[in-house]
Amino acid sequence: MSDYTRYTELLSEIADISYATALLHWDLETYMPKNGHARRAQQIGTLSKLAHEKLVDPELKKLVDGLLADLPKEKKQARNIELTARDLKRKTLFDAKFVEETSRATSEAFYHWQEAKKANDFSIYAPYLQKVIDLKRKEAGIVGFEDHPYDALCDEYEPDCTVEKLDRLFDGVKNDLKPLLDAIKAKPQVNDSFMDQYFNHNNQWDFGIEVLKDMGYDFDGGRQDLSSHPFTINFGAKDVRVTTRVSEETFNEMLWSCIHEGGHALYEQGLPDSDYGLPSGSAVGLGIHESQSRLWENNVGRSLAFWEWKFARLKEIFPTQFEGVSAMDFFKAMNKVEPSLIRVNADELTYHFHILIRYEIEKAIMEEKLNAADLPSAWNAKYKEYLGVDVPSDSQGVLQDIHWSHGSIGYFPTYSIGSFYAAQFHAAAEKQIGTLDPNDARPYLKNLLGWLRENIHQYGRQYGSDELSERITGEPLNAKYFMDYAQKKYGVIYWV
Ligand code: ZN
Repeated sequence: MSDYTRYTELLSEIADISYATALLHWDLETYMPKNGHARRAQQIGTLSKLAHEKLVDPELKKLVDGLLADLPKEKKQARNIELTARDLKRKTLFDAKFVEETSRATSEAFYHWQEAKKANDFSIYAPYLQKVIDLKRKEAGIVGFEDHPYDALCDEYEPDCTVEKLDRLFDGVKNDLKPLLDAIKAKPQVNDSFMDQYFNHNNQWDFGIEVLKDMGYDFDGGRQDLSSHPFTINFGAKDVRVTTRVSEETFNEMLWSCIHEGGHALYEQGLPDSDYGLPSGSAVGLGIHESQSRLWENNVGRSLAFWEWKFARLKEIFPTQFEGVSAMDFFKAMNKVEPSLIRVNADELTYHFHILIRYEIEKAIMEEKLNAADLPSAWNAKYKEYLGVDVPSDSQGVLQDIHWSHGSIGYFPTYSIGSFYAAQFHAAAEKQIGTLDPNDARPYLKNLLGWLRENIHQYGRQYGSDELSERITGEPLNAKYFMDYAQKKYGVIYWV
């Protein structure tokens, strides 16, 4: 057996364990009875430990080192080896003491974050968050960086992400989106009152399934279930599941999460099953993953053309709720722009200011200009500056997100990166496949999925984000496409 074949076998075994663990997670979030919790945590813990042991096994390291010194001739194989070497290096950077310290600090921070949020008292959380911050600063030092300590952290979520690139993107948010937002605020608000009324659970659910089918989601290689927070999870490319949640009091929730998670799932279903467990069979990074969900949710699912086609069908299901409502009214309502306090409920435009604020705060934390105790006042000042809103309480402010308690500093920007890539990829796709026909969207949806499969999905991690973007669009990530898309979209909504 060649060394490369043995390497693929070992990675395949690690994937088996990781996907079995993922299935336990899926069950825990969907169907597990309440009393299963304690043993389930133990089972997941044991399997995670096994996967980690296999990953840092000297046999794998020796194989990868050998193959790295004498790279396979085939390009994809060589790239797999380089990426695995890079993954292994990051996994073995931290000694057991540091890993244990981090795991304890984040568990304690998570617990106290929940308590602080309930009590609306940031001081309960502050000392525990400070511990996490100290460890993240230490982590950046261990990982190493050239220009900015933040680079060492964001790179874990979006490979090759740097402060220099992020500053450029968020300058676009400040210089281009801020004037657009101010102009919209001066216009009369759109009417979205018909979105908040009674919408039967089963009818919403069935419509969500129908739209997933329209998108090309393969129910022979997946399924949808209910969970308290929607997510996508996969056990290889042949079994990719999504979840959603349904509120009967509004139409503004379930369908968008269906389309969003459906976009994530189409990416996973499009990865090559023959490269199971290998980098070439895995997603590039969080930014590209999020580009797929947001392209389907925003660029397609919140477009006028799509609803000029689909709204008649929706009206058949909810005739009283949408009586007298046109496709244009519905399009305007689903895209209403309104500065608000909570990121996860924000519209597509103001969303990026929520991310900008978190990014600026995280950067200042890593520059040691801010510490945990300074965060509430820094947070509130920035919400006033960028969104013009007063934060009434820390629960609705600095305490709203779970991320920092987990130590996920450097994660937030991937959400904006995803939207910006989505606009750039979608513009490139439309150049080749044309635009959606409001009389019949089906050919377009089929072509779009084909285009994504051919240009993005089939390659797995063979190309990094920048390289992938250059191959498809002729340039690396450029926020200009999102700015153009936003100008056009909100022009129709607020200026016509
Ligand atoms: Zn997502």
